[in-house]
Amino acid sequence: MSEVKIGPSKELALLKNNYLFSEVRRRTGEFLAENGGEVLNMGVGDIAYPIGRSAAEAMARASLEMADNERFRGYPPEGGYVFLKEAVVCDYALKGVKADCEEIFIGEGSKSDAGCFTEILDKSEVVIFNPVYPVYADSAAMQGVAVRLLDGNKENGFMPAPDALENKPYIIWLCSPSNPTGAAFDKDGLKQWVDFALKSGSVILYDRAYGVFADGAPSTVYAVDGAEGCAVEFCSFSKSAGFTGVRCSWVRIPKGLKVGGRWLGQLWARRQSAKFNGVSYVIQRGAEAALSENGRRESEEVLEHYRRNMRVLGAFLNKTGIWYTGGRHSPYFWIECPKGSSWQFFDRLLKKARIVCTPGCGFGSAGEGFFRLSCFTTEEKCAEAVRRLENFFSL
Ligand code: PLP
Repeated sequence: MSEVKIGPSKELALLKNNYLFSEVRRRTGEFLAENGGEVLNMGVGDIAYPIGRSAAEAMARASLEMADNERFRGYPPEGGYVFLKEAVVCDYALKGVKADCEEIFIGEGSKSDAGCFTEILDKSEVVIFNPVYPVYADSAAMQGVAVRLLDGNKENGFMPAPDALENKPYIIWLCSPSNPTGAAFDKDGLKQWVDFALKSGSVILYDRAYGVFADGAPSTVYAVDGAEGCAVEFCSFSKSAGFTGVRCSWVRIPKGLKVGGRWLGQLWARRQSAKFNGVSYVIQRGAEAALSENGRRESEEVLEHYRRNMRVLGAFLNKTGIWYTGGRHSPYFWIECPKGSSWQFFDRLLKKARIVCTPGCGFGSAGEGFFRLSCFTTEEKCAEAVRRLENFFSL
């Protein structure tokens, strides 16, 4: 048999296997094969309710436009249609932030935006929290960039401050409200990072995928003075409008953010024009509708289901006395395992309560001894999960 004589990318070869969710699936499958019946999956970060009517109807209308001789469209502009950028600018205005259409870059999801963004920066050390959403560390590894991990723990509420860093330029990933811990910076906590970035010449890459859940915590990094000189913001329609299966996002690069004397937005535009052909017209019309008054109201109705789940699960956890964070500003609860390792607890919860959780160690070494429960499920399933948890903890 012949073999290609080209080796794999050295960086990719060093990447650890994405073991977490495949191992969760393997153990769950094995349990079901042995025991039959069903399990409640409280481990997923995917939506459990459909997208709103306004967005769906806008996409249906846009699809028909594509079949019309007069109105069909070809390649979209790489950075997005102005109609969607204007809707995003209005979204910022509602938060008291003055943005400009040119600063907004429409993408096909925050995962790819975040995964690709550091390609346009030099190979400065990347600061990443531990535990964290795995995309930042994986893409740093693929780009051969050194990573500085900042450990979360009970003392810092899993939202470390920049105190341990030297006064030098870093690329800093912040995710608040956080996946997986559900914790969020308050304004003072976030200000510490913005002040540090301004002082050290660092850039903050701020992932606000769960900003729509922030309950009094900043829902945008630009709530902090000075952020426009140091922070790029990554925003996804996935959780705010149920777009995980539709795919749309934006990146805001403020005009004040300069690298090597050039606006960082120019570099991102250059990169995108080389490797990306834009998001489909149909999807962008859907995203525009999701940001309309009706679209927002419909999304809010759905988000209320998850928020009710957060309240029900939170009330239960408060009764147990177990340490946890999250569940207020994000639909994730990050909970200390009463005993044993993350995987030992996973197995026990699966066996005794037929609940699937996500082992904390899968998000980084500092997640060992913790597990994540997600409220992205229906209210009925969440209520059933709480009943099973009450039995499990003998309450
Ligand atoms: N950022 C964080 C922190 C996430 O948890 C997720 C998805 O779970 C994403 C980004 C991905 O968003 P998208 O669906 O827009 O790719």
